[in-house]
Amino acid sequence: MIVRVRDVERLCASYGHVQAAALIDKFHAGLNGIGRENDAIERIGDRKFAVLLNGLKNRGHATLAARKIERVARQTNCGDGALPDLRTDIGIALCPKQGGEPHELLRSAEIASLDGRHNKKGVCFFDEQSARQLFDDWGLEQRLQAALESGDLSLHFQPKSCLSSGKIIGAEGLMRWYEPELGPIAPDVFIDLAESTGQITELTEFAIQTACRRMSEWNEVLPDLRVAVNITPSIVTSMDIIEVLESATKIWNVRTDRLTLEVTENALMEDRNLSHDVLTQIRELGCHVSIDDFGTGYSSLAYLKEIPADEIKIDRTFVMGMLNDAGDYKIVEHTIGIAKSFGLSVVAEGVESEAMLSELQILGCDYAQGYYISKALPAEEFADFCQRHTASLK
Ligand code: C2E
Ligand code: CA
Ligand code: CA
Repeated sequence: MIVRVRDVERLCASYGHVQAAALIDKFHAGLNGIGRENDAIERIGDRKFAVLLNGLKNRGHATLAARKIERVARQTNCGDGALPDLRTDIGIALCPKQGGEPHELLRSAEIASLDGRHNKKGVCFFDEQSARQLFDDWGLEQRLQAALESGDLSLHFQPKSCLSSGKIIGAEGLMRWYEPELGPIAPDVFIDLAESTGQITELTEFAIQTACRRMSEWNEVLPDLRVAVNITPSIVTSMDIIEVLESATKIWNVRTDRLTLEVTENALMEDRNLSHDVLTQIRELGCHVSIDDFGTGYSSLAYLKEIPADEIKIDRTFVMGMLNDAGDYKIVEHTIGIAKSFGLSVVAEGVESEAMLSELQILGCDYAQGYYISKALPAEEFADFCQRHTASLK
């Protein structure tokens, strides 16, 4: 389930930002109270929670659980006993029908919650037809086009730190879309949409240009910072990525070795020849290549030997599970070993605690990225964050 607190702007207007944030924290604590052993409740945004409930037998059970969550929201009080009318939109996806993999399940639940919000249903189950309807009704494609033109799309930056020095050495650029009428739309939803409409080309060009522009703006304070941009395989056939990279680095006068392109292991496996050629050209230009979500695909060691890459990013699901699950720990440990033996550097993403950070240090991982260091920040806040972080190391 995705649980989204509704009308946070109204709460802020009535109670002030501090009190509104405290209310959402209280609701979070209440939510934690409804989970059983093996359930997972994670905050995944300022006003958004992912709830994984195990062992529900049918839709009826899921509806009951959602009603319980609505009750928790309604009963969240201001501390003086007054009830502030906290409402939620809840999107439900069922496993494995509506997503066997965690990201598919989250995406379906996210779409269901948008559907619920749009149709003012409060609690809404995912269904394929209404998802399609939603995209058509809302004219999401046109809205995305407008966002590309008006600046409602922005690139946020999540810091990556070096595990031996503690310094911030780079960032991953992550796209954010705040649609004026619909509110925030998750990248998993609009990247898929952009893939299906072909708008991914423009979106990727925007990401590359923005990454270079920001590196150039931050040049004085962060001259060696590296920024990574995500690319999907479809853009390789639909645009001349080399030309875009050449032009963006020239316009903003940024060294090509400061730009990294992240491509998922799964995407690489889909079309080996094509991706191999293009990645080789990207590296010849001087940019770096990182294999994202490593461990979720099925690349063989023989393939890894040939792949034109500089870095491996261990998928966050393994990192997040490494302290509780022996299997995940082994995957992280071995991936670090494999990366080293092929001369690749290795990044762990999804680092959420100090304990994970120290364990990764012991295992010889090079870099870490995750909420423990920082979530993705708006560009305006990023340079300040890095400076504060450097000062805290002294
Ligand atoms: P990704 O490339 O695997 O990006 C990392 C995702 O993990 C981000 O989600 C980030 O916010 C989240 N994350 C980072 N640290 C933690 C942590 O400690 N714990 C947890 N639970 N999560 C963490 P986000 O921003 O929602 O992006 C989702 C996906 O959307 C990205 O996955 C990427 O595949 C895609 N995406 C985002 N921006 C772009 C873009 O500009 N272009 C393309 N092609 N894809 C993008
Ligand atoms: Ca990535
Ligand atoms: Ca990733």
